Amino acid sequence: MRFEFRPAPMRFPSSAGLEPEALASAWGDWTWQMRRSLTHRSDFEAYFELSPSERRGFELSGFQVRCTPYYAALASETAAGDEFDPLRLILMPRAEESAEQVTQEQWDPLGERRNLKTPRLVHRYPDRVLFLVTDFCSVYCRYCTRKHFTGGELAFAREPEYREALEYIRAQTGIREVILSGGDPLTLSDAILDRVLSDLRKIEHVEIIRLGTRMPVVCPMRVTEDLVRMLKRHKPVYVMTHFNHPRELTQEAAVALEKFVDHGHPVFNQMVLLNGVNNDARIVQALSRRLLYLRVKPYYMFQCDPSRGTDHLRTSVEDSLRVQRELWGRLSGLALPQLSLDIPDGGGKAGLVPQFEIQCEGDEQQGTRRTYVGWDGVESVYISPPRSRWRAPLDASAYEEEWRSLRHAQSRDAQHSEG
Ligand code: SF4
Repeated sequence: MRFEFRPAPMRFPSSAGLEPEALASAWGDWTWQMRRSLTHRSDFEAYFELSPSERRGFELSGFQVRCTPYYAALASETAAGDEFDPLRLILMPRAEESAEQVTQEQWDPLGERRNLKTPRLVHRYPDRVLFLVTDFCSVYCRYCTRKHFTGGELAFAREPEYREALEYIRAQTGIREVILSGGDPLTLSDAILDRVLSDLRKIEHVEIIRLGTRMPVVCPMRVTEDLVRMLKRHKPVYVMTHFNHPRELTQEAAVALEKFVDHGHPVFNQMVLLNGVNNDARIVQALSRRLLYLRVKPYYMFQCDPSRGTDHLRTSVEDSLRVQRELWGRLSGLALPQLSLDIPDGGGKAGLVPQFEIQCEGDEQQGTRRTYVGWDGVESVYISPPRSRWRAPLDASAYEEEWRSLRHAQSRDAQHSEG
């Protein structure tokens, strides 16, 4: 028997003047979810009993507030009066966002503005770029790391900015991957996305396109048959989702994820560890197992960046490492996400791994004797041999040439079969 996930509730305030039948047909339309999104405090009051801290949050937050009816219904399902509900902490502004005493908070913690090569293109690593195709999201997550750009009401790049970004990618032949981000690229229409992907596919050195999106979480009806078929014409397109809590994996979200995978799009999940949301190994474990069952690889578990207004949500590094250590024994490698921290100001990613090695004797020339303690306390020694003089033969230019001709042959075949 096929396992079914729990469907999300379908709740819309009766005062909004929609009959149950009309609601049932509108609910599954993603454009309706966009149009009827909650943006004002009064919209949220129709779903939640706001606490004093949340009411202050609406007055003081310097970051936009927005939520789809779908995600609001999901977040208000268990306890409309519980201000510490995990999903509610993700979507609702709180007074703590504007606290005066903060540990380390910035509008641009990753130093992306410094690496902007055009107004919409961040180029930090030699082989990949981040293309900020829109700054719009259907839900503004309170922990967002890109508050310097997201939610500025700029939407899709203006024509000159769009062309400038494409020109840059075309000119930089070392770029292999383009990550479509923002904002959320899946808030754009199929037609606009199709245009962006077609333009990128005309650039020969672009091999991989990644799509970073939270729409399968907050508006899974966005993932239509038309969308996944269109994406398939531009393969390989990797989909990077952003589930943070097992409750977000509803039947609707599961159907959306399966559509991607069934059409050949590899899906990876990146989550953020957050206080009161998922900072317990059992929660991450439940999320990871469900994702893996749906053929989604739990990829990264991020330490929350010191983005403005996130001090109350950020876990301590020690807490994050404790979660990772517990997961080590409970999850298979396939289901285990990697804990990672972005070094502020553009330092790139640093993997955070629990300390398993407790002693190291000797040196590399002579060989070392290393003592480890596993996740459940088993202690043993690994004797590392001395450094070898044998090096693997390397002919990088030949590999490169071979790969280029393979790709040419593949794209010729693809054009032939489409024609
Ligand atoms: S979906 Fe991503 S870009 Fe948009 S608010 Fe959330 S974290 Fe920020």
